[in-house]
Amino acid sequence: MALQLGPEWKVTRSELSPADPTWKSRLDFREGHRFPCPECGRPSPAHDTVEKRWRHVNFWQCKTELIARVPRVDCPEHGVRLAEVSWARPGSGFTLMMEAVILMLSQEMPVSQVAEMLKEQDTRPWRILEHYVEKAYRKEDWSEVKRILVDETSSKRGHRYVTAVTDADSRKLLFLVEGKGKETLEAFAKEMREHGAGPEQIGLICMDMSPSYISGAKEHFPRAQIVFDRFHFMQMAGEAVDQVRKEFVHQGLLPKGSLWALRGNEWPRSGEQKSLRASLCATYPRLGRAIGLREAWQESLAREDPQELNFFLPQADRGRLAPFRKLFMTIKKHLDGALFLHGRVPGRLIEATGGPIRLAKRMAVGFRSFRELRIAAFPKAGKPRLKVSALTA
Ligand SMILES: [Zn+2]
Repeated sequence: MALQLGPEWKVTRSELSPADPTWKSRLDFREGHRFPCPECGRPSPAHDTVEKRWRHVNFWQCKTELIARVPRVDCPEHGVRLAEVSWARPGSGFTLMMEAVILMLSQEMPVSQVAEMLKEQDTRPWRILEHYVEKAYRKEDWSEVKRILVDETSSKRGHRYVTAVTDADSRKLLFLVEGKGKETLEAFAKEMREHGAGPEQIGLICMDMSPSYISGAKEHFPRAQIVFDRFHFMQMAGEAVDQVRKEFVHQGLLPKGSLWALRGNEWPRSGEQKSLRASLCATYPRLGRAIGLREAWQESLAREDPQELNFFLPQADRGRLAPFRKLFMTIKKHLDGALFLHGRVPGRLIEATGGPIRLAKRMAVGFRSFRELRIAAFPKAGKPRLKVSALTA
């Protein structure tokens, strides 16, 4: 692969060192060339040289290393400084071309695999990825962001919470921060200012029904209408069904396999599960009522008709199933007129967010640190945003 060597540089020797085995190319510069001072750009004479090494793209599947005598220039204003080279970033142990390869690979596979492939410690590709992800992130323009989705996710291992903010329209992951409270929305509002944007431009926030998100949204995004995530509503209804089911489990009344027969929607169940579901609902009417309520709630939500929900909630509230009474009371309390019911809930919009957020959730498991999650999530979630050529040019 061609290197962007300037005319002042030449390859003096290339050889295969059989011990490692590594292909080693030695570079040297033209005697008397004046290199720019890295600080002010003034062409300055070489003071002395330092030997530097960079890992380059494999040559004939062989590890390849560039070794160069890099001049330290003597600038009258800035003193003795290490000159910059055209093929690598200052301080990086990889050539730009090798970094481009690492970036491309990291968007296709886990970083640990990239490291394994290159026979490098994984901290090295992580550092490169971090550099370019942060660089791309700082340049992002959020001035067109109007509707956002806020989602909380947790890392199973660390029991730590992470809040993800996604642009509902472009589905781009905008913000990932530790925590799940009000302060995470405050932090996002601040971050907007760094991207040519501000909280006043946000017209809609879709999120799950957590009181701290609600108060954070009201305080920091005063113009935004708050809508709740339909999936979250259904998840809550599923939990209510489960609580009713457990009453029967505790009495030893439910046969093996009834968990899957009763959980979720009926249509994906097998024939056997369907008939078990039907017979359990007939035998235990409380169970049947719980499942019926969940389905009715699902239908009401799907119609996205505020009037229908206004009608449904008080009805359901009168039921004698405590878990559902509690659920619907909570929902009613939060709906609170201004929330959810005043606006047409863009259902498709809510469904669209699933992808990047689920991806972030999957990625949250097995990461050693939040830092790694953040670095890995940005290039992967939403639109690809690391344009390798632009970044390494
Ligand atoms: Zn200088």
